[in-house]
Amino acid sequence: MNKSPFPPGEASQVKEQFTCRICSSMGEHKVFLVPEFQCGTKEIFKYFECSNCGCLQHAEIPADLGRYYPTDYYSLRPVEGTGLKKKFKHILDRKRDRSAFYGKGVLGWLLRVASPGVTSALNKLRRLDLNHDTRILDVGSGSGHFLHFLADEGFRRVTGVEPFIPKTLHYPNGLKILKQNFTELNGEWDVILFNHSFEHIPDNIETLQHAHKLLASGGWCIIEIPSVSSYAWHHYGIYWHQLDAPRHIFLHSLKSFQILAEKSGFIIRETHYTSDPSQFWGSENYSRGVKPKATRTAVERISNLIYRSASFIPQYLRTYKLNQEKQGDAIAFYLQKK
Ligand SMILES: [Zn+2]
Repeated sequence: MNKSPFPPGEASQVKEQFTCRICSSMGEHKVFLVPEFQCGTKEIFKYFECSNCGCLQHAEIPADLGRYYPTDYYSLRPVEGTGLKKKFKHILDRKRDRSAFYGKGVLGWLLRVASPGVTSALNKLRRLDLNHDTRILDVGSGSGHFLHFLADEGFRRVTGVEPFIPKTLHYPNGLKILKQNFTELNGEWDVILFNHSFEHIPDNIETLQHAHKLLASGGWCIIEIPSVSSYAWHHYGIYWHQLDAPRHIFLHSLKSFQILAEKSGFIIRETHYTSDPSQFWGSENYSRGVKPKATRTAVERISNLIYRSASFIPQYLRTYKLNQEKQGDAIAFYLQKK
């Protein structure tokens, strides 16, 4: 189990002078040295936690962030694979996605519990009053997994924008994924979604102000992000799975996100806690020094599978409880223009 995860209050007595990029607080903020865990490079990145708004952020944002995204990064994988095994997986994924979007189907629900994949985005959209002409933009869409599902379901005006794909993608069902920076995009949208992409964006205020500009009157901007206002950050500290240095640039608290929304001309209409059990098993793996999935031996894979299986139900129940208590490590904010 975790030998030395520390609550952030005890993690670092070192404070350094920084200016918070969210609330502009100048002064001494607590410093954390965070290793890269997902790819296993263990390269160290310095973060600080704003003593005013609580936002955890890079002390210095790396200049070339693109090099920290491997080519097989999960959101950039092709939507439809070839080969029988991948085609079978695609059929199961569709059952799961339909369950998330329409709220029906026992098999789909079970598949979601076992492997949520992109369903959290579909689950969030289900709360809105959508029709096939609703203009939906997904920012940081990767190769467009859940948008592809929506286009297949008859949504004609769905688009993704993703700077890290090799080129703009045109799918046979009409879906387009633009290789572009969001802040260079024009147009008007009824729904702008950042599904675990906002934490990867260096300029939060400029980005949210641009979303405000592109959002139609009465439209929704939905942002789901990891949050430091959570049990997982306070318990696991630098081993917190969702810290994901250096790719996650801002890890917001409730207070810092509220400040950001205000500065960008939005009000927060709804807040939903959406954490999943990876807050436990992912953080435990990092704190126990378990190797990244791609580099594990067969024995290590089996050992991890046994651990995951044995802890699945208790972790699932703890996750449900944390979300109810507003202590889960992921939050979906529903914003509208002021
Ligand atoms: Zn701050």
